[in-house]
Formats: sequence, structure tokens, C-alpha cells
Amino acid sequence: MKAAVIESVGRAVVSEVPDPTPGPREVVVEVAACGLCGTDLHILQGEFAPKLPIVPGHEFAGEVVGVGTQVTELSVGDRVAVDPSLYCYECRYCRTGHNNLCERWAAIGVTTAGGAAQFAVAPVANCVKLPEHVRTEDAALIEPLSCAVRGYDVLKSQLGAHVLIYGSGTMGLMMLELAKRTGAASVEVVDVNPARLETARRLGVAGSAANADELDRPQGWDLVVDATGNAAAIQDGLGRVAKAGTFLQFGVADYATRVTIDPYRIYNQEITITGSMAVLHSFERAAELFATGVLDPAVFISDRLPLTDYPRALEQFAAGVGRKIVVVP
Ligand SMILES: [Zn+2]
Ligand SMILES: [Zn+2]
Repeated sequence: MKAAVIESVGRAVVSEVPDPTPGPREVVVEVAACGLCGTDLHILQGEFAPKLPIVPGHEFAGEVVGVGTQVTELSVGDRVAVDPSLYCYECRYCRTGHNNLCERWAAIGVTTAGGAAQFAVAPVANCVKLPEHVRTEDAALIEPLSCAVRGYDVLKSQLGAHVLIYGSGTMGLMMLELAKRTGAASVEVVDVNPARLETARRLGVAGSAANADELDRPQGWDLVVDATGNAAAIQDGLGRVAKAGTFLQFGVADYATRVTIDPYRIYNQEITITGSMAVLHSFERAAELFATGVLDPAVFISDRLPLTDYPRALEQFAAGVGRKIVVVP
């Protein structure tokens, strides 16, 4: 089969690799679409993936074309979205309900072959069947949505809260769409990229700007979400949290990123700084939300490129052009 392969640091190609075969409790999925995200760029830069080469792609959906000998829950022809998380279920974190912090954390498309390929293997436990009205090629959005759901899971109620989101790329926009559902009193978005900010406005925001100074909330925001991973944005956002408010580190920063915090203010104003990592018990709910139309795929997926263009798709993503880019085998 054809697959994208990150061969070594900085080098992605599309090549011919052996077809995958399912284990007893696995299925083979014929990929309909696979999304690209910051994680793929980190893998390309030599972070996250413990060893290269790897077939990337952890955001995908497709049709089951093969089942393992002990699979009874799914059949050939079923359409599924795949939760890429692979937990050990044995370590202390798994045993205390923090599976996403598993000591042996692994994921399809990060540590094992992923969905940027014609076919991918997934445990049956990781597959969620799609309802009839959800298009398979749109369901690649469920995985990033499940990360956004996890983001809200770590927070307390947002009923009546004023929310500020840094970044209006795919993840920032998903946090925006979910914020509206959480009962936020207002949601505002900051992004230095005017094209991306325009999409946030189209989805509906109380305010938007290239710099939070242009937004009128001198007392700060109850919830500030970083969806950029960018040091300048994070530093700015930390200073915008209102008294008793929360800062959520949702964007993926480079390992070397450092910002400064103000311990006196954290103490004196009872500020919470927290993070959320990937997916935890949130994939199923993301699939259910997605089926209710929480995201408009026509807005969220800006580019559908052929799998053979994977290296170019990565470059386009790195350049910050468009929103969710998916490759179609
Ligand atoms: Zn991702
Ligand atoms: Zn574990």
C-alpha cells in the first residue's frame, strides 16, 4: 500500500510499504481521510516519536475492510473513527484513571503506524462507529475534537465565564465552538494571523484582535486558553487571567519553550494554571458531539489533498496556511 513515511528528522516521503495485518482484537481500516496537526510537525522535528521511520497520522476515519480472529463487535463495511490512544492499563497512571499520562504512553501514528496511509490497523476498542449521516471523510475531525473535549474536562464550570482563546487555528476554533456550548458569557479570540481570525469571526465571537490590548476587559478573563504553543502568546495570556481565573495550556509548545510566571499574583489572586494532554475518555463523547453538528466540516477542513502530496501538505501546515488539512488516500 501507499503510505506517508517520516523517514528521518526533517524528511517525509510517500512510499510503498507492506499492507498491515490485524491482530486478533484489531481491525484494518481503509482510510477515508487523515488530518495533519502540530504533533506531526513535532515528529518531523524529531520529538514525540521514539523512533523513526514512522507512518504518521493519528486523526483518521475510514471503513473496516478486515477484522481479526476475535473481533465480533465490528464487521467489514462498518465506518469508524479511530481513537489513536494506546495505554498499558498497568502503570500507576492508568490504574488511577490518568491513562493519557501512561508511563508507556503510545499512540497510533506516533509510536505505531498511523492513518496517513491507504490502510491502518486499530484495536477494536479504539474504534467508534459512525452514524449514517456523518461522512467518513469528515470524521477525521473527531480526534482533535476529543482533545478539545479533554481540555474542558480538566476545567471547572464555564457557566457565565468570560473566555479568551489564543490562536484560531483548528484547535483554537474547536475550543471556541465548545466554549459556546459550555455556557460562557463571552468568548474572545486573539491571533496574529488575520486570515485565521476571520474564520473565528465567521463562527461568532464577542471580540477578536491581533493583540488582547485591543479587547476591552481590563479585569481580565475567567478562563484563558492557549491554543498556540507559542511562548509570546502564552506569556501574554498568563497576564490576562482574572482574579480566581484559570489558564489552560492546551497548545503544544516545543520542549525548549520557557515563560515566566508571577508567583505572588498566583497566590494573591488565586489563579490556577493547568494543562490538558491529548485524549482521555473523551473520544466517544467527541464522536457524539460531532454527530450533533458541533463543528461545520466545511469550515474546519480547509484542504483535502491527495495522500501523495503528504510532504507538501506538511509544509503548508507548517506555514500556517489554511485550517485542518486532511490527506485523502
Ligand atoms: Zn492531532
Ligand atoms: Zn499505563
